[in-house]
Amino acid sequence: MANYDVIIIGAGPGGYVCAIRCAQLGLKTAVVEGRETLGGTCLNVGCIPSKALLHASHSLHEAQENFPKMGLKGKSPSVDWTQMKAYKDDVVTTNTKGIEFLFKKNKIDWLKGWGSIPEAGKVKVGDEIHEAKNIVIASGSEPSSLPGVDVDEKVVVTSTGALVLNKIPRKLVVIGAGVIGLELGSVYSRLGSEVTVVEYLDAVTPGMDAEVQKTFQRILKKQGLEFIMGAAVQKTEATKTKAKVHYKLRKDDSEHVLDADVVLVATGRKPFTDGLGLEALGVEITPRGQIKTGKDWQTNIKGIYAIGDAIDGPMLAHKAEDEGMAAAEQVAGKHGHVNYGVIPGVIYTWPEVANVGATEQDLKEAKRAYKVGKFNFMGNGRAKANFAGDGFVKILADKDTDRILGAHIIGPSAGELIHEICVAMEFGASTEDLAMTCHAHPTYSEAVREAALACGDGAIHA
Ligand code: FAD
Repeated sequence: MANYDVIIIGAGPGGYVCAIRCAQLGLKTAVVEGRETLGGTCLNVGCIPSKALLHASHSLHEAQENFPKMGLKGKSPSVDWTQMKAYKDDVVTTNTKGIEFLFKKNKIDWLKGWGSIPEAGKVKVGDEIHEAKNIVIASGSEPSSLPGVDVDEKVVVTSTGALVLNKIPRKLVVIGAGVIGLELGSVYSRLGSEVTVVEYLDAVTPGMDAEVQKTFQRILKKQGLEFIMGAAVQKTEATKTKAKVHYKLRKDDSEHVLDADVVLVATGRKPFTDGLGLEALGVEITPRGQIKTGKDWQTNIKGIYAIGDAIDGPMLAHKAEDEGMAAAEQVAGKHGHVNYGVIPGVIYTWPEVANVGATEQDLKEAKRAYKVGKFNFMGNGRAKANFAGDGFVKILADKDTDRILGAHIIGPSAGELIHEICVAMEFGASTEDLAMTCHAHPTYSEAVREAALACGDGAIHA
């Protein structure tokens, strides 16, 4: 048994970042993690391995589609799936070992095993009970499925199983056109699978700007993904090597069946709090299963905090990290803060999709007068040279004050470009501030400036 200032349960991006900040602030810190490796969902079975496969499969696509156009000829690469998975695993290991190194450097104890909270101020790991003045729950989330869809992680898989398939499926059916389904659908489509996405709603990526949704779906269709929209999946039937997906079209209730070698269920994630003992402790939980917290990330029980996917808000690694730092500062008696109005969201397909702040829909609902500045990548020299002219930057600003309220980008490096707008929004900047900032030529960033110019007297290259 040991005494700590703070024990964090879960070593995902929320937990490990919180631990490092606690240690930096002089607190004696431990992290409980039941997995064999640190880094949580994100590093082990989420952000990092999926981005490795997106990178590898995009490189293949570049070689097949664009190399010949640039006069780069020769033997076209073929896919060694075992090697590609080994590359992905290497990337994961380098990252998870990196967190182990940071724990040692910051003198953070890793309490290996699954933790529970028998009472406030105590954390049980295995047979040992450790004392902690403060406890931060960062237990993350797990995939959720649908009634009638039984996941076996071989033929009917979640994202976790989709990262380790034995072979590249000939036919992949993806249930759910959200971020995870479209990223992994893109991977397998580029690697040669016939990919069909079945979505309950009428648009992909729910909650995003409607124009981006349409453009994104059009581009993905051009790349070979098929979409069945407005379709309610009823059930799956699986053997050891094949599956059938039964769905009903919502418009006329007609019933249909799709054959698949693999079905990826990508219908969202839910908070994971099993085994923590929260019910017995009396920790308040929302109807959606999230741990309820106040503005300081403290639960209704003094000294017990919660962050990341286990609480309300977008299930994103950077949101969890920001809460990790802020909660650490609260625990240390400082004033941690997260600006929930400026949390970017990125989809790492080709092209990338990124957004921050309000959509037009949000502004209409709020009855806020706004203006739109839009610029197509087709007018950007760098994008044209790099076969990346499809897509646009769209900035929304207050009609009277010109203050930036949101931005929606589909195009090359959208996930990097969005941060220029995040910084501008943090500083309360206007589109004129962006438009008056000199941007290097030729860069994709010029498209952001042009969209800002389009909010005023007009873009130059439109
Ligand atoms: P997690 O990362 O889920 O970590 C929680 C940890 O707590 C786990 O390791 C778990 O083992 C441990 N734990 C739970 N209970 C206990 C217990 N009782 N005792 C001990 N340990 C416990 N987000 C992005 O921002 N960008 C992306 O590109 C992105 N891509 C994704 C791709 C996929 C395929 C998936 C599935 C997710 C992706 N996400 C992405 C989401 C991101 O992974 C999560 O938002 C993020 O990991 C949440 O961090 P967290 O710290 O709250 O929880």
